[in-house]
Amino acid sequence: MTIKAVLFDLDDTLLWDERSVDEAFAATCRTASELTGVDPHKLEEAVRREARALYESLETYPFTQMIGINPFEGLWGNFRKGEAEQFRRLEQLAPVYRKESWTRGLRALGIDDEKLGEKLGEQFPAERRARAYVYEETFEVLDELKGRYQLLLLTNGSPDLQQEKLDGVPRLAPYFDHIMISGNYGYGKPDKRLFREALNLLGIEPEEGVMIGDKLTTDILGANTIGLHSVWINRRNLTADGEIKPRYEIRSLRELRQIIDRIDREKEDLR
Ligand SMILES: [Mg+2]
Repeated sequence: MTIKAVLFDLDDTLLWDERSVDEAFAATCRTASELTGVDPHKLEEAVRREARALYESLETYPFTQMIGINPFEGLWGNFRKGEAEQFRRLEQLAPVYRKESWTRGLRALGIDDEKLGEKLGEQFPAERRARAYVYEETFEVLDELKGRYQLLLLTNGSPDLQQEKLDGVPRLAPYFDHIMISGNYGYGKPDKRLFREALNLLGIEPEEGVMIGDKLTTDILGANTIGLHSVWINRRNLTADGEIKPRYEIRSLRELRQIIDRIDREKEDLR
């Protein structure tokens, strides 16, 4: 059996989400600095810390953990879609969460200004929405794979937020035969059920597919558990020293073709 399908993670695998978030923080904190003189770097650090703590205290935290929605997505998401009741709760909580995160961040640096917290809480989503980045090799690699393999996008997150990210880069979605967003299923990677559903949609056996992603605890663990070939895109030169071992590791998506060829060759040798 040869490789028939490639499954991709979205955030920080194809889309450079981290850069978008970093730049949105920088721009929003610059506004705060101009208005109050606060150190923008210290404010970013404080807001990230306060947002994370507040996020973890919300009643929706177990749900967002399960679906795979992080605290900084909570700072710009609207959560208007998704059938689970918890999405409606998130939709109600989101504006308060945004405002509170920024207000508490300011307060941690001695600035007690709820109005400014609210303003910054609304500026951040606009700044994030204005920035959609892909990696320089993303389209080159997808062009190479398209037509040779079935392509499936398997992303954790809220249905409307992940869709918005895709809409931000309109060229991306048409490459995929299937797009799966965890929020539409009620569970996220590494849940086996999600990977099983992906295999069903593709009509393949696990060993006929390659899963590529940047996160060991979701992309790689899930792929390993179900028996897909796992490829870890490790752009920041991290060390996989825990229990989760990727089958292959790459620094750039450009190495993917070689890996697939290698898997196919190894299978031939086994015959
Ligand atoms: Mg990712």
